[in-house]
Amino acid sequence: MIPAWVQLANLLAAVLFILALKGLSSPKSARRGNMLGAIGAALATVVVFFTGVAADHILLIIAAIGIGGAIGAGAARRVKMTQMPQMVALYNGVGGGAAALVAWVEYLESNGSGSKLALIATVLTVVIGGVSFSGSIVTFLKLQELITGRPIVLPGGKYITALVAISVVVLAVWLIAAPATWLLITLLLMSLIFGVLFVLPVGGADVPIVISLLNAFTGLSVAASGYVLNNVLLIVAGTLVGASGTLLTQMMAQAMGRPITGTLFGAFNAKATKAAGSVEDRPVRSGSPQDIAIMLGYARKVILVPGYGLAVAQAQSTLRELAELLAARDIEVDYAIHPVAGRMPGHMNVLLAEANVPYDQLKEMEEINPEFSSADVALVVGANDVVNPAARADKTAPIYGMPILNVDNAAQVVFLKRSMRPGFAGIENELLFDPKTTMLFGDAKDSLTKVVAALKAL
Ligand code: NDP
Repeated sequence: MIPAWVQLANLLAAVLFILALKGLSSPKSARRGNMLGAIGAALATVVVFFTGVAADHILLIIAAIGIGGAIGAGAARRVKMTQMPQMVALYNGVGGGAAALVAWVEYLESNGSGSKLALIATVLTVVIGGVSFSGSIVTFLKLQELITGRPIVLPGGKYITALVAISVVVLAVWLIAAPATWLLITLLLMSLIFGVLFVLPVGGADVPIVISLLNAFTGLSVAASGYVLNNVLLIVAGTLVGASGTLLTQMMAQAMGRPITGTLFGAFNAKATKAAGSVEDRPVRSGSPQDIAIMLGYARKVILVPGYGLAVAQAQSTLRELAELLAARDIEVDYAIHPVAGRMPGHMNVLLAEANVPYDQLKEMEEINPEFSSADVALVVGANDVVNPAARADKTAPIYGMPILNVDNAAQVVFLKRSMRPGFAGIENELLFDPKTTMLFGDAKDSLTKVVAALKAL
């Protein structure tokens, strides 16, 4: 019998998780939300020690928490903002893996003699946790560029994946009907293989969506493991992660203008696209920081378009300084925020909030798009895919259908980037070659610092 105070503490932790999610829905309250979630998790962990289940291996458990906590805290302190998606992928993967292992151990303890319902929950935990673990490791390897980020389609990949999926279903049903340890091990192995095959064909810009989907899977496997362990809090927390992960996946897929099935299975049907990463040898117009400062300093209306490169260069404060200088010259300045600029949802909002850019200057895509046609200059700082007109016109482009910021409607476009290399999706951007485009090559922070200095000297 679980003591009433433990149940109350669990209820409190569940409420804290819900408040955490609410807090995380806005950059203003995100820190508080994160803190509430952490308190809820700490409470849930401590309470377990008072239920008696941890009594047998208390030292081992404390050592494991110590080691895991130290690694987690150390990695979280060191990770760069731009590496956050890989970190989420990795943590998500170990979460799914842990749930699968817990279910396995519980199965061994009961020797498969539990109720059918418990067996179904065990099977679900092993399958979803296994897929989530191996799939997340592959997304981590892709984002960390330890393997190619482009879609990897094995010969006959579609059929191999379908075969493995069918074998997972057959093994799962078999295991529920006639429990046996070898079946459980084979099921786990096949689930791990399915996770790898499922993620390999996803490439480039779609990888963060898959991370979010796997995150939802992990939530479901944790919820199922809650049933196995008879732990209500795990069921609540897992369901919250599952539901929010599913919503986030849907929102990201929507922002990129395609159904989630297109993201997952697109590579199997993909036609050849222009060689990615090829740097074309066509002439482009480049300017000096002074040229750009003159262009900006004598404009009436300027729209700033931040992207992933701004985060890499950590140039957010310098961009704000530039915006303030322009505003002081009575120039209308706005920031155009694309929903998938950067590498995670809300990336640009967080980055610019960090630099104390007032929220009312951040304009969402629908609001700012009609403004470009009356802008004198669109200054694109480290963005590429989110302004690439190929998304509108080129049906073979991997970003085709994604709504973009219409910077090509501005009278002049300036790109601050280091080279002619493509963005995350790995495709050319014709706008870089447009006669109204001027390139300022270099690290975004260096370039902005020079433009700011030139503007001050005008
Ligand atoms: P992109 O990755 O398309 O382009 C970023 C550009 O920044 C590159 O072309 C790069 O060019 C430049 N850059 C990199 N480092 C620097 C630096 N230090 N200084 C100056 N420039 C630099 O970024 P976008 O923000 O335009 O697009 C985001 C991409 O991520 C999209 O493809 C989107 O679909 C994808 N994505 C984002 C998600 C999200 O939630 N935010 C989720 C899913 C996908 P160069 O190397 O020449 O400098």
